[in-house]
Amino acid sequence: GSVFAHVVQAPEDPILGVTVAYNKDPSPVKVNLGVGAYRTEEGKPLVLNVVRRAEQMLVNDPSRVKEYLPITGLAEFNKLSAKLIFGSDSPAIQENRVATVQCLSGTGSLRVGTEFLARHYRERTIYIPQPTWGNHPKVFTLGGLSVKTYRYYDPVTRGLNIQGLLEDLSSAPSGAIVLLHACAHNPTGVDPTLDQWEQIRKLMRSKGLLPFFDSAYQGFASGSLDADAQSVRMFVADGGECLMAQSYAKNMGLYGERVGALSIVCRSADVAVRVESQLKLVIRPMYSNPPIHGASIVAAILKDRALFHEWTVELKAMADRIISMRQMLFDALRARGTPGDWSHIIKQIGMFTFTGLNSEQVAFMTKEYHIYMTSDGRISMAGLSSKTVPHLADAIHAAVT
Ligand code: PLP
Repeated sequence: GSVFAHVVQAPEDPILGVTVAYNKDPSPVKVNLGVGAYRTEEGKPLVLNVVRRAEQMLVNDPSRVKEYLPITGLAEFNKLSAKLIFGSDSPAIQENRVATVQCLSGTGSLRVGTEFLARHYRERTIYIPQPTWGNHPKVFTLGGLSVKTYRYYDPVTRGLNIQGLLEDLSSAPSGAIVLLHACAHNPTGVDPTLDQWEQIRKLMRSKGLLPFFDSAYQGFASGSLDADAQSVRMFVADGGECLMAQSYAKNMGLYGERVGALSIVCRSADVAVRVESQLKLVIRPMYSNPPIHGASIVAAILKDRALFHEWTVELKAMADRIISMRQMLFDALRARGTPGDWSHIIKQIGMFTFTGLNSEQVAFMTKEYHIYMTSDGRISMAGLSSKTVPHLADAIHAAVT
């Protein structure tokens, strides 16, 4: 018998498992609204033209080799990534107070940041919003932190529970870590307003809470890279410290290239140097050093004016298509006279809509309409097209009536 005979079958990942189930369904009308990946109006994955161009340049450059990157990744990529999120005129960057390391997309950046905090930070508790991306609690727990939640979403208004949020952060122990979605909160699509961000910032700074930003959707929420970074920049402008996990999966469509960055904004340049030296000790025994291809694509785009501009245009087109799907779905439900207030569909932003449908309604829609989504009622707007909206609206209508 196998020495592993006792190993039990693990459950599918709650998000990625949706795609597994979708792939098994032979129905021609099936729609996958589970996974957070952009699809074109034709329902196809999209490789940005600017990414293809950058890749061509890389392939045609005979000086490019496949040597190992340093433990911290591609230096040029790290600099450009910090500029992208903190702003090119950021004092923290100018004062060399930011330690940035290339990591394996957003998830890897979160994990490296977590392991660093578990080793070197005095407070081991991280507060995460309720709800949040399903992988967050697992990454933080396995990385050595203990997880608590703060109130975030109000199911009645389908908006932000700012009162509950502020109360919960007020009663967190001084020094606690707080996970903040930089923009386009996943799964709710509900973000604080700038005024609310300012309230959150003031409270967190007054209590010495440490912000850990997760930025997986910069540019995807509003279509503007700068607008989507405003929350983060408010926290950096006050001179305080924070962590930042950045992903290029969505905004450059580089999902499978696994390219992202962890930045730690420090009080002073000498602290940043020591922090970086310790990040290397986290990374080296985990995966030695990060992959070269995706980071080279990102660096090529970010450093070239024309390519950067082309990227912003393509990024805005993705964001706009998502926004138009919101309007189309809202209009379709209204046309059907579907009971309930569906205005949250057009108010929420980013890749997802938190529909308010419960798990029974979701199960019904999957069984009867072959629509696949996570059981919390989250749908990926990026997976919709003008052809599939009517089918989804029919399904929602049937599920709630
Ligand atoms: N953080 C949030 C909120 C996300 O939604 C995602 C992806 O769905 C990630 C992080 C990490 O994605 P990746 O590791 O592919 O960059």
